[in-house]
Parts: sequence; C-alpha cells; structure tokens
Amino acid sequence: MARLDARHPAGAPGPWFVDDRCIDCDAARHVAPGLIERNPGDGVSIFVRQPETPEEIEMAWRAVDVCPTRSVGHESERRPPAPVFPHDLGDGVHRLGHNSTSSFGAHSYLVVRNGANLMIDAPRWTRRLIEPTERLGGIDAVLLTHRDDVADAERYASHFGAEVWIHADDRDAAPYATDLIEGDEPDELVPGVVAFPVPGHTKGSVLFHVDGHLLFSGDSLAWDRARDQLMAFRRACWYSWEAQTESLGRFADSGLRFDRLFCGHGWSRDADADWFERELRALVGRMPSR
Ligand code: SF4
Repeated sequence: MARLDARHPAGAPGPWFVDDRCIDCDAARHVAPGLIERNPGDGVSIFVRQPETPEEIEMAWRAVDVCPTRSVGHESERRPPAPVFPHDLGDGVHRLGHNSTSSFGAHSYLVVRNGANLMIDAPRWTRRLIEPTERLGGIDAVLLTHRDDVADAERYASHFGAEVWIHADDRDAAPYATDLIEGDEPDELVPGVVAFPVPGHTKGSVLFHVDGHLLFSGDSLAWDRARDQLMAFRRACWYSWEAQTESLGRFADSGLRFDRLFCGHGWSRDADADWFERELRALVGRMPSR
C-alpha cells in the first residue's frame, strides 16, 4: 500500500499520489500516460494531473496494481472496485500487471489463443489474477524471455499445470523449467509460436513471435516514445552489446514480420509491419556506435 506520509511533494494536488519509494521502473507511466509522468527534478514518477473521467480513474487503478513497490495510491481507497488486470490489449493479448520488484517492474502478458494460452514472463504472485485468468482459459505454457523477468513464474506454472520454456543459457534462473530452447536458430515451440534467440541483453534472451504478427521482446527491444524509433538498452546490456547487435540483425533478416510489439521494459508499440522493419534495420545500423 502506498504511504501517504511519504507522498512525493511535486505531485498534482488531489487524492491520487505516488510515494517516495518509486524506483523509476517506468511501468506506471506505460499504463497511465498523461496522468503519471517522470518528474524532471529527480526522475521518479508523479501524478502530473489528477484523473477525472471513469477511463482515467481506471488508468490510475492500473498504475496502483502495476507498481512493483506499491508506490501509487489513493488517499482513502485501497483497491479498485473491479479487477483492472488482466487488461485486454486486443488480439488475445492481456497485460497482467502486478509487476514484481524481482524483475525491476517488468511487464508480463497472457495471450489467449484457442485453448493453448501463453503467459509471457511472469508477474508477482497474487490470487487476484487467478480467477480472472481461469475465466480466460488458464495458462498452458509459460514462456520466459530471459533470466531477469521470471518473477513468480514457478507458482503460476504450478497452479495452472503449465509447461515452462526458457533458453538453456538462462536456465539457472528457472531450474523448474520443463522445456529448453537451445542454440541460436529460431524454433517453433507450438504451432504459431516461434522462439527467436537474441543473445545480448542476457546470453539466453529470446524473442517470441506469436500468431504471425505479435512480438514479445522482453528487455531486448523497445520503443523510444520521445524519438518515435526502436531502441535497445545499451546501459542495461548484461552479456554482450556486439552479440545483441548481431542477433537483432539476424532477426531483421529473418522475415518474421510484426505489427505489435510488447516489451518487458520500455514502451510497447503498434505500427505497420513496414514501419517496424524499417525501424529495426535503422536501430541495428545505429547500435555499433553506441
Ligand atoms: S510503477 Fe511504481 S516504481 Fe515503477 S515508475 Fe511507476 S511509481 Fe515508480
């Protein structure tokens, strides 16, 4: 629960606030853009204005439930009147919220697809996700993009009886995994779900290309909202920037096109597949100089 006595003083006056435990993971700003933004003074999140419409109040509740440090809150209300996660993003994709501090607030997703549902990366464990996820058909497979964002994957997999996939090079982060992705070649795990290894951010990082047009990138690729271009995290590259440049280049040449990008960290984006192809090649071209 957010701490009213630690309310950030730069926030807009009113009942909604962010406390001073914010770790600047960005997640609240992704679900409540225009309401919560980075404070230029110290780089953490604040409400730049109070929500007014029912839609904006729902966005604020999503910020409450996405925040890994429980820093977003309301002066008198603790919980949303109805669950705000899983949040339907279209095409069967749902943001799960309840981001974990163990993954520094990375987003995770549920993809509902004809009785073979996927959880891509994992949130912190909460019973508040169980019943709504059961109503959507449960979870058949947990796909982990890399070692950093496993959070409470084991508990969700155990509860739903799901298989768990991770790349062999990040396996020690999920020793309970039932299936391994090996090597650098793309692999169709189940019909319509391709794992594309992209060593770089970590040695075992993987992109998941789903149903011919959805891309789940973990921490390997994101959208730079300010510049409206694709980006990779140079200062959060734990294995090899050279390898990440090479592997994203291989992906650009793979012919796996996408028009929706869902990230662990950073901004997600919808755009024409030609825009993504052009921007991905431009990013790969810029990376050696970073
Ligand atoms: S989700 Fe929480 S910790 Fe992350 S930026 Fe927002 S307020 Fe800060």
